[in-house]
Amino acid sequence: MTSDDEVALRVRALESLLLEKGLVEAPAIDEIIDLFENRLGPQNGARVVARAWSDPAFKDRLLSNPTDAIVELGFEAVQGEDMVVVENTAAVHNIVVCTLCSCFPWATMGLPPVWYKSAPYRARAASDPRGVLVEFGTNIAAEAEVRVWDSNAELRYMVLPERPAGTDGMSEDELMALVTRDSMIGVTRALDVGGEVAP
Ligand code: FE
Repeated sequence: MTSDDEVALRVRALESLLLEKGLVEAPAIDEIIDLFENRLGPQNGARVVARAWSDPAFKDRLLSNPTDAIVELGFEAVQGEDMVVVENTAAVHNIVVCTLCSCFPWATMGLPPVWYKSAPYRARAASDPRGVLVEFGTNIAAEAEVRVWDSNAELRYMVLPERPAGTDGMSEDELMALVTRDSMIGVTRALDVGGEVAP
C-alpha cells in the first residue's frame, strides 16, 4: 500500500466517524470538496488580472480596494483574509512569499504549489529574490526594483503581472489564458502571445 492509499483510508475513516457522531453533515463535506476541486484556483485570479488589463476603472479599484474588487467578480475569501494586490511594471517587480509557513490567497489562486511551501523558497525569496527569479527563468533589469511581500494570516498578496506586449486586440477571455499562477506569485511573467513564459 502506498502512503497515498494510507492517507485516503485514514481520511475515509475520519469522515465516517465524523458523520456517525453527527459532528458534520454529508452535504457540508461535499460542499467543501466542490469548493476546493472546482471553485478555487488560479483561474479566478486569472479572471481578476484579465479584467484589470481590460478595464482601467476595475484596475483602479483592484489596486485601491483589492478585497472588494475581487468579491465584485464573485470570488469570496475563504478564510476572511484581506487581499493586497501589487502591480508589476518595468520599474518594479513584486514577488510574494510566506516566510513563516504557506499563507496564500485561496480565493484567487487555490492551494499553494509545493515549492511555495518549501523551506528553501521561503528563506531565499526573502534573502535573495533576484537569485530566485533567475532560477525561475525570470530576468529583471538591474535598474528595476524587486520588492518582496511576506504573506501572513491577515494579509494575502497577489501580483498583477505586466500585460504582455502585442496583446492590444485581445479579449478578456484570451488574456486570461496568459495569466499563470506563478505570474501572480511574481516568480515569472505572464505568458507571451505565443503562450511561452517570457524571460
Ligand atoms: Fe503562512
